[in-house]
Amino acid sequence: MSGHLMGVYNRAPVEVVSGEGARLHAADGTVYLDCVAGIATNALGHRHPKLVQALKDQADKLWHVSNIFRIPGQEELADRLCADSFADVVFFTNSGSEAVECALKTARKHHSANGQPERIDIIGFDGSFHGRTYGAINAAGNPNYVEGFGPRLPGYIQLKLGDHEALKAAIESPTTAAVILEPVQGEGGARAVPDADLRQLRQWCTDNGVLLIYDEVQSGMGRTGKLWAHEWSGAAPDIMATAKALGGGFPIGACLATTEAAKGMTVAAHGSTFGGNPLAMAVGLASYDEISKPETLANVNDVSGYLVQQLHGLKERYPDIIEDVRGKGLLIGVKLKPNNREFMAWARDQQLLVAGGGDNCVRLLPPLNLTREEAAEAIEKFERTCQAARGKMAA
Ligand code: PLP
Repeated sequence: MSGHLMGVYNRAPVEVVSGEGARLHAADGTVYLDCVAGIATNALGHRHPKLVQALKDQADKLWHVSNIFRIPGQEELADRLCADSFADVVFFTNSGSEAVECALKTARKHHSANGQPERIDIIGFDGSFHGRTYGAINAAGNPNYVEGFGPRLPGYIQLKLGDHEALKAAIESPTTAAVILEPVQGEGGARAVPDADLRQLRQWCTDNGVLLIYDEVQSGMGRTGKLWAHEWSGAAPDIMATAKALGGGFPIGACLATTEAAKGMTVAAHGSTFGGNPLAMAVGLASYDEISKPETLANVNDVSGYLVQQLHGLKERYPDIIEDVRGKGLLIGVKLKPNNREFMAWARDQQLLVAGGGDNCVRLLPPLNLTREEAAEAIEKFERTCQAARGKMAA
């Protein structure tokens, strides 16, 4: 392994060389069933022919021009995103963190443009993850990610998810700008916020002139069986960050907002060299067309129903290994009794790739077009992993 990479990742000892659909091929010839999908990113599996073609076609035309010019693909994708969401306007980024950063800036600038510059506080929650920029780590407030990077940024408040009293009081504060939350926490261990809580939160924000930001970087774009996770609750945000599956594996993110929420985002308020470049937009459009199809979303609901039911069966048979099954759609969390990192290694021994998560979970985040047969195979491999875990724990 090269010593020239910053040691910030805890990498699995798998050298991946190619992929196809839900299969990932390693240099040593092992073929894995991939229920990580680039952490909910390769939503249509590896090397989806329509995405590959879109990238090749665009590569032959134009890669980059800068946002000082009109980019037709951006206008087209923004039109589609707005047609299928609460939003009126979109800013394209290269990543989820940048989409979150834009969301935070949009919220504060809204209040400044409204003549209330004192409204700067952003309310976030424990267990959340919003990315790695300074804004994102301060919004999530996870001590593991903020410590050692100097003083915390002012204007970020952390609350316990589910502490309604504290939340209501914080929203009523005259210095509050926005609340940011993931409708289904991803990295925190597949924790879905109850629909009734989202509706209550929406009401409190509206009543107090506070903006509601959803981070749907992981839970959006079909992952939960609707295009946007918050659609299950009917409580729309004012601003939303999305990324990951939006490019099907190509780096892209987007910050969506209502015209009112984005009223401060005028010329020169924000920008990006690469965000929304023609290559990303071509793949984004192809990916968006496939993911937003009713068949894709129906498949998520069908396969998710099957997986969750089977995992509950495994929980009954392996109560010493599985503590809880949770999440929404194909953002599934399995809370374990043995250490989740060890379990991930034992799963790899069965040629199954699963992602880690907070609260000692492993997450199953397969491509949204996973077939029933592949799902059955994932369950078989998961059960063999539970058996192996039982053996290791007894040893
Ligand atoms: N927000 C959420 C909910 C995420 O899950 C992630 C990444 O895992 C991010 C933001 C950051 O996205 P990126 O890694 O593309 O910057």
